[in-house]
Amino acid sequence: MGKRVTVVGGGASGLVAAIAAARQGAEVTIIEHKSCVGKKLLSTGNGRCNLTNLSLTKECYHCSQQGFPMKVLNRFGVEDTLAFFGELGLMTKSKNGYVYPNSEQAAAVLDLLNLELERRHIRVLLNCEIEQPLQKVRGRFLARTSQGNISSDVLILAAGSQAAPVTGSDGSGYQLARNFGHRIFPPLPALVQLRCSGKYFKQLAGVRCEARVALYGKERLLASDTGEVQLTDYGISGIPTFQVSRFASRSLSEGKDVRAVLDFMPAMSRTDVKLFLKHKAELLPDMKCRDFLTGIFHKKLALVLIKLAGIPTEQPAGRVTDTSWEQLLNRIKSFEATVTATNSFDQAQVCCGGADTREVVPETLESRLVPGLYLAGELLDVDGCCGGYNLQWAWSTGYLAGMDAGSE
Ligand SMILES: Cc1cc2nc3c(=O)[nH]c(=O)nc-3n(C[C@H](O)[C@H](O)[C@H](O)COP(=O)(O)OP(=O)(O)OC[C@H]3O[C@@H](n4cnc5c(N)ncnc54)[C@H](O)[C@@H]3O)c2cc1C
Repeated sequence: MGKRVTVVGGGASGLVAAIAAARQGAEVTIIEHKSCVGKKLLSTGNGRCNLTNLSLTKECYHCSQQGFPMKVLNRFGVEDTLAFFGELGLMTKSKNGYVYPNSEQAAAVLDLLNLELERRHIRVLLNCEIEQPLQKVRGRFLARTSQGNISSDVLILAAGSQAAPVTGSDGSGYQLARNFGHRIFPPLPALVQLRCSGKYFKQLAGVRCEARVALYGKERLLASDTGEVQLTDYGISGIPTFQVSRFASRSLSEGKDVRAVLDFMPAMSRTDVKLFLKHKAELLPDMKCRDFLTGIFHKKLALVLIKLAGIPTEQPAGRVTDTSWEQLLNRIKSFEATVTATNSFDQAQVCCGGADTREVVPETLESRLVPGLYLAGELLDVDGCCGGYNLQWAWSTGYLAGMDAGSE
């Protein structure tokens, strides 16, 4: 009879941890409080599951303890992940390095994980609530649950973060870790939309455009990213917004001011945009300013830019003053908005913050405080960029924790 392993949380990291432990010969039980495992997994990548990324560097991860994420990822990385899923029968494909199942169905990834759970005789307790703090009593872990007491030699906490709580990760995992003495950095929403002040956002709702989003605190650049930005009635969304959002979350939580500066022509320098506008005005001097940016920007955005530059919409382009061209240039190249808040955990894809990684051994994910206790996945104070990096973190930590936890 192998070691008894309990895994709390049947999400990405918990499922892989359970499989890895079972492969080591352990007898594994998953405690999942939802009615099925892998709920969040199903919604990843808009239902297509961007499960990893072929281009992975240390810059793709944020953690209070620099260097921790790569120590983990160097032990079980992208190649290992592809091999792991290949062994389960998954065919993957890469789109510019972003890896998806060939079927582009997140459900396929979950189905194969579920088949492996069955094949390895892993016990899965669904709708199972932990009713009292988990404990270590005389060398064994004890979970008092709605489905009875579960005793094990080792315990893997893989209960996720507080992002998208409807999928099951409601933040309760932090308390489970805290009960064992682990320090938790306050979780904040990350990979999330930013709410901005400015009445014009109502008029801009629905616009999608290529832009650079630069986030500033006071005069300091916090982060920037370029790609398809979505303008909404409350602010900004889209991947570049998500990528910088963790920095907004942090600064706002510390009571600091945050500004987003959008560049709607990121591929052109300020001088080139100026020359371009001047040239167009010379070519079409009679064109009314309300139409002047048509064909360059989305109609809604074009009008807002002209209005915010203080240019009368009926004025012919040939009569616009140099000062007004400068104003327009400012709006196009550095459109400023005050960030008032991020959207809530409900809309966030991940959290920044979580269990302090200094209290965990990177090679095995075992707690330095409680031998036999392991922490995996987003519960830890590590958040990745958008692009498959967070699932990669879940697979890597889950696998390493499971392998160590299950070994004799
Ligand atoms: C909409 C959306 C899209 C995303 N898309 C991507 C993507 O394409 N690529 C990518 O890399 N990342 C993506 N992510 C992030 C990624 O899904 C997560 O980082 C990853 O799922 C974290 O894995 P985890 O195992 O740590 O936590 P989770 O997957 O959240 O799993 C935690 C599990 O623990 C269970 N649980 C929690 N508390 C308890 C408790 N007290 N008792 C019992 N069970 C409990 C939960 O019900 C859940 O099943 C996305 C996230 C969202 C919300």
